[in-house]
Amino acid sequence: MIEKTHQCRQCGSTDLVKNGHNASGSRQYHCKACGAYLVLDPKERGYPEEEKERILRAYRERGSMRAIERIFGVSRNTLSRWLEKRDVSSPT
Ligand SMILES: [Zn+2]
Repeated sequence: MIEKTHQCRQCGSTDLVKNGHNASGSRQYHCKACGAYLVLDPKERGYPEEEKERILRAYRERGSMRAIERIFGVSRNTLSRWLEKRDVSSPT
């Protein structure tokens, strides 16, 4: 099976290595050029609530967006959007 060439979203490099799967089961890549961790074929556009909860909990424990970015492949923008949303939304 031939794999599609993927491109890093951050720097455009195709020098990517597989990096297992992230917590939501999407295949994750590590860009050797810029060091970014990427999910190139996410199962769906957003994250399921359950997954969000897990990531937000991890964020509160670690207090580091950078760590969360690396571990879960969630961008800081996404994470801060979730954090903002949580303040106004009702608990699940
Ligand atoms: Zn890159």
